[in-house]
Amino acid sequence: MTLHRVARFADISEHRGLEVQIGDNQILLLKVGEQLRAYQGQCPHAGAPLAEGAVCNGRLTCPWHKAQFRIEDGGLCEPPALESLKRYPLEIRDGEVWVGDQSLQDTHTPPADDARTFVIVGAGAAGTAAAAALREKGFGGRVLLIDRENAPGYDRTLLSKFVISAETPPDEVPSLCDEDFYREQRIERIHAEVTGLDATNRTLRLNDGRAIQYDAALLATGGAPNRLALPGADLPQVFVLRTRADAQQILDSAKPGQRAVIIGDSFIAMESASSLRQYGLDVTVLARHPVPLAKQFGEAVGKAILALHEANGLVFHTDGEAVQIEGTNKVQAVLLDNGQRLPADLVLMGVGVSPATDPFADLPKEKDRSLSVDGGMRVTGGLWAAGDIATFPLNGQPLRIEHWRLAQQQARIAAANMLGGDEHYLDVPYFWTWHFGKNYDYLGHTEAWDEVEFEGDPFNPPFIGLFGKNGVVTAAVACDREQTVAMLAERMKQPLSVDEAWRLIRE
Ligand code: FAD
Repeated sequence: MTLHRVARFADISEHRGLEVQIGDNQILLLKVGEQLRAYQGQCPHAGAPLAEGAVCNGRLTCPWHKAQFRIEDGGLCEPPALESLKRYPLEIRDGEVWVGDQSLQDTHTPPADDARTFVIVGAGAAGTAAAAALREKGFGGRVLLIDRENAPGYDRTLLSKFVISAETPPDEVPSLCDEDFYREQRIERIHAEVTGLDATNRTLRLNDGRAIQYDAALLATGGAPNRLALPGADLPQVFVLRTRADAQQILDSAKPGQRAVIIGDSFIAMESASSLRQYGLDVTVLARHPVPLAKQFGEAVGKAILALHEANGLVFHTDGEAVQIEGTNKVQAVLLDNGQRLPADLVLMGVGVSPATDPFADLPKEKDRSLSVDGGMRVTGGLWAAGDIATFPLNGQPLRIEHWRLAQQQARIAAANMLGGDEHYLDVPYFWTWHFGKNYDYLGHTEAWDEVEFEGDPFNPPFIGLFGKNGVVTAAVACDREQTVAMLAERMKQPLSVDEAWRLIRE
């Protein structure tokens, strides 16, 4: 290992990291009081430059998807990263900073000193995060991770953004953890479908006839995309989008120049519209709302995103409901209840998901078929749930929120509590969405606000908007303001007045 002179101590600010380069490696220098730390410069989740993140309350927040790390030791605090930052040896000599070119070894696999078996059903966002968190938090017993998809859990958020646009082939969608990780951490992946649960006897049944006993289990089966029961919905060019296989089927069918009709104006519908349009299809969205995404983002941002779509050639059709998909053997059109026909070569239904809880017949369900959990993500004795299937209390209100990072935060809380902890959700929900090369960030959760104010123009990013209720920030929406949103992701954990938020933003 060789030490390299990379910066002067005086050049490093207290409020943000400094990126330096050693060979091909980006290294982040961070001030911790009067000391310095050197960490890997790119987020282990998706490779964001961490020097562009925010340093606040002893934590570094990633600019892209808001993973958080302790500045003291690089330890993981919040997903979507699933591992801590690699640390590099550092010395200060005469005001100059010297950093080693090899990271310090960090062996974290707990010894197999525990006779218990913990089972996780579903290896998606929540399930994979929970498996990693159990080991990170020191669990030495068996960890079984069951999924009906054969491949390790992968980043499904890319499917609607970069896969059906034909930019990333389906089999190149990155796994959440690599094979070495599962092997080193002794996480046993089981390829099977869970078909039943006996919570009293702590037993899961699999479709291959096996029965698996557990000491604690986490249910993380996610959402199943809704399919409209229309005549013609079984034609081969009618799709939904949830899995890599769904994306592959869409790609096998879609050809530039074809006509796609997307039923629904959900986030996935609008992202898919952007991707298929970029792939060269003529895209019509059949929408129920005059302005897409306005319920979450407000009218101004919804209109701006619609304008971006229309400027890129999308047709947004709000008149009429689909009653039939016409065609024999091949889709020809979507017929509406007002008699109109939208010509189509393929149809994508983007009309929401339902919690995938069918195998858990004996558990009580909410109206939407989700499982109700307490603040610690517990369903009942020995059983936890996280992600799209869980209705959990957020600020005292029972909510089910379909966000990637939130599913993983819930999973980390469940993992801590499976190990006897008493953790609760105290964070700020966050998600992102991607349209024609623009990423929109959304922090918080609000269904009713009494004030909204913007800095910048939603039609011409960068911009940030704050939603307030009784003078307190309830949500923020932004585009091209990554560091500001990273800062707010930490600040909004405590009640933050709208005035104070604007002061911090303008600082
Ligand atoms: P999932 O990630 O769906 O994982 C559930 C797993 O359970 C799956 O692997 C499934 O195969 C498995 N499973 C289900 N039933 C069984 C069974 N009976 N037996 C065995 N295994 C089973 N959120 C964002 O915040 N930002 C985004 O940009 C974004 N983009 C998205 C794009 C797309 C195309 C989709 C579909 C979703 C997107 N989301 C996004 C939402 C986000 O992906 C979900 O909220 C998140 O995946 C929920 O995590 P989960 O673990 O609950 O479910």
